[in-house]
Amino acid sequence: MNRTDSYLDYAAGAPLLPAARDAYLAADVPGNPSALHRAGRRARETAEAAREQIAQALGAQPAEVILTSGGTEADGLAIQGLYRARQAGPTARPLVLVSAVEHHAVLDNAQLTGGQVVTIPAGPDGMADLTFVERHLATQADQTALISLMAANNETGALQPVQDLVALAAAAGVPVHCDAVQLVGKAPFSFGVAGLAAATVSAHKLGGPVGVGALLAGRGAAIKPVIGGGGQERGVRSGTIDARGAAGFAAALVAATANTTAEAARLEALLAPLDALVAGHPDLSLNTPLGRHLPGLRNIALAGARGEALVYLLDQQGIAVSTGSACTAGLPQASHVLLAMGQTDEQARSAIRVSLGWATTAADVAALVAALPAAVAAAQRAAAVPPPGQGAGVDR
Ligand code: PLP
Repeated sequence: MNRTDSYLDYAAGAPLLPAARDAYLAADVPGNPSALHRAGRRARETAEAAREQIAQALGAQPAEVILTSGGTEADGLAIQGLYRARQAGPTARPLVLVSAVEHHAVLDNAQLTGGQVVTIPAGPDGMADLTFVERHLATQADQTALISLMAANNETGALQPVQDLVALAAAAGVPVHCDAVQLVGKAPFSFGVAGLAAATVSAHKLGGPVGVGALLAGRGAAIKPVIGGGGQERGVRSGTIDARGAAGFAAALVAATANTTAEAARLEALLAPLDALVAGHPDLSLNTPLGRHLPGLRNIALAGARGEALVYLLDQQGIAVSTGSACTAGLPQASHVLLAMGQTDEQARSAIRVSLGWATTAADVAALVAALPAAVAAAQRAAAVPPPGQGAGVDR
């Protein structure tokens, strides 16, 4: 990618913050944090200093920070580890409640528990339906191992009613895990205040290195390990602690959480020209629930063309956006999030996600706004051309 390119895919991965790069390189000294010699002790000090910074930035205690290889591992450890711990004792608790709009890191790990997955439906605005949870807990709380609800959706940016869910679950004695990967760094987040059993954070979404993250786990939350080994990280996450990665993660987190209110206002102001374009375009509309959304993110529905066609056309002009939904073997899939919101299969394939972050400028958004109308028209023309052998007048 050229320097002049417009990178608008922060929800997939943010560029490394200079502070994170500096901290990573400064921590680049030999030594396994578990080793007894001086080099090992230095590495341990680096990791523990990072843990303290991470804890402070997230309103947690250092002992509540379990360092992982990223968001996916933290989600897996939370869901499977909480599930296993909740099976100890005389009561069987086979039920795992997850919202329909969770990231696959939550959905797939819920399946991998071997328990019975109960899906919390979402409304057309992408919000999880808490009346469903309320009804469920009224009769099945004692069979429920855990509930997982994300803080902000990675495709639409919809903010979820996590605090209300925690209140419901606490009254029923059921632990709640929250995937806060997209929210942290974009809006205030305090683990201590939230009352969650566990929460997931990932460094590379907020300007830290790829391959580092954390599971925040309250000291009262029992979690069983999923992978065995050296017993690091409270005995629940074995594997050599990545002191360099932790240092880079901590520096990114401190920078990203320093002033989320001002940064959110900056990102939303940058998006004003895009919002105006979408509002005035007959074939574009928003899947993002404005007013209850992640700052700096828009999911744009497109009539008459596939999201990936628009992504490719914009990419040719040096503008990086995404469809927001997953690919399987390189083939774009209909978004499970948009399907859960009641959209058709065609609609769930016809959206793009634009996501901004720390290095985004007005010029990046201006490039998208200038290119979008022609790219939409080109994607629609391409969609209107029938595949070879299927056109009008062709005998089959
Ligand atoms: N959870 C959410 C909501 C995400 O958006 C992502 C990344 O796309 C993940 C989890 C996985 O995080 P990681 O890439 O650090 O494994």
